[in-house]
Amino acid sequence: MSKNKVLYEGKAKQLFLTEKDDELIQFFKDDATAFNKKKHEIIDSKGVLNNLISENIFNYLGKNGVPNHFIKRLNEREQLIKKVEIIPIEVVVRNKAAGTFTKRFGIEEGKDLPGTLIEFNLKDDEHDDPLVSDEHIKVFKWANQNEIDEIKEKAIVINRLLNELFNKIGIILVDFKIEFGRFNSGKKVEIILADEISPDSCRLWDIKSNEKLDKDRFRRNLGGLIEAYKEVATRLGIDLSNF
Ligand code: UDP
Repeated sequence: MSKNKVLYEGKAKQLFLTEKDDELIQFFKDDATAFNKKKHEIIDSKGVLNNLISENIFNYLGKNGVPNHFIKRLNEREQLIKKVEIIPIEVVVRNKAAGTFTKRFGIEEGKDLPGTLIEFNLKDDEHDDPLVSDEHIKVFKWANQNEIDEIKEKAIVINRLLNELFNKIGIILVDFKIEFGRFNSGKKVEIILADEISPDSCRLWDIKSNEKLDKDRFRRNLGGLIEAYKEVATRLGIDLSNF
């Protein structure tokens, strides 16, 4: 699989074109950013762990009936994915209060929410990814009502499956961010899960100690990020012997 030019450069990943029009290579970098890039560091091997963890989770979701962009892992930092038109909305699913949510509503970190909450943020770094409603999404035509409904349904299913997965390995899924894209199979356009799911995009706490096993270790200068990501990978059954 030969890699062509960079199609997109994000904070933690790059997307490369391939010789196939409908496939891309997703490359995981070691960059860690927070607070809209105000904090930035290179954390050696983070990209390798996120590639492995995201592969594991996308395979699990695929086997459980969640269509997604993952095709196969190519090497330690790259995976082959289906090319989609990304819907420019970050879909955040929350089970417990944490992060920006605690500040917005004055709810203490770790409090169970009365129900699963789905929030949308526009992907717009220049304006700090503002929170948007279904109405904003429709009026600005980032997605139509059917797509919004489908995204919400998929987000609920993904949350259930991820809760089952992480519960079994002694991890609490506090919240996570996912992205969706439109995949054109030639016959129809389908909404599928895209991007990544990793400790960069989820809040994961050890069930016994509440220890943070995710990017909050970087955001809050707690140290031990790689050890935490390795712990998540090992509990997921990922073989790190070559790591
Ligand atoms: N998140 C993410 N990318 C972003 C913003 C948030 O992956 O650009 C994830 C974050 O890791 C957490 C969830 O989405 O698991 C909810 O994040 P929140 O809105 O609380 O913002 P944060 O406090 O992370 O800035």
